Amino acid sequence: MIVILLGPPGSGKGTQAKALVKRFSFPHISTGDIFRANLTLGTPLGLEVKSYLSLGQLVPDELVVRLVLARLTEPDVVEHGALLDGFPRTLVQAQSLSDFLSQQGQKITACLYFDLPDDELIIRLIGRMVCRDCGRNWHEKFNPPPSSLICDSCGGSVIKRGDDAEETAIERLKVYRQQTKPLVDWYEERGLLKRVQSFGNPSEVALAVEKALNS
Ligand code: AMP
Repeated sequence: MIVILLGPPGSGKGTQAKALVKRFSFPHISTGDIFRANLTLGTPLGLEVKSYLSLGQLVPDELVVRLVLARLTEPDVVEHGALLDGFPRTLVQAQSLSDFLSQQGQKITACLYFDLPDDELIIRLIGRMVCRDCGRNWHEKFNPPPSSLICDSCGGSVIKRGDDAEETAIERLKVYRQQTKPLVDWYEERGLLKRVQSFGNPSEVALAVEKALNS
């Protein structure tokens, strides 16, 4: 089973990813998480992608495609499939994924598309607080994290992502509209798109995900 999560930053993909991974026991491949982990560790990959992330720009296709396709050949993915979160993000990436999967005799099960209006996305992004280790998230105003800023799920530090600063968040939304939104039509044309209404709290959105997957 290969499921893609598509949608603008702040639309709730990461939160729903955690629930889906628990339910279907398949690996969660989040390109954003991979890049942030490498940045924190100061690896050569982290250094290579640092400026793109801090400016809210996309990492070049060639690098992302190489990274994800290599991950897709690992035994856990071959056995269980994968949840792709944040990939593909351009038409080049979508085409490369599609070519790779057909060579492997595999198919995408569904592309879940999460959408929300821009004003709601900005409110969510600039108030977002995340656990650096497990990725659990809160909102400064609407769902504040523990006052200790220690994650009560895993004990990691709760932080604000650098790229959630207002200026960068606006740039990320602009980049999303220009480069990623065209994938909505691309997957719709291939009969794979399932729309998820992303308003409401995480359990309401989880119900919408369930409905979309069963449709
Ligand atoms: P995310 O956590 O998915 O919002 O990703 C954070 C940042 O990582 C993005 O703003 C991009 O700079 C980079 N990134 C993540 N996934 C991709 C991708 N598929 N293609 C290019 N850049 C990506």
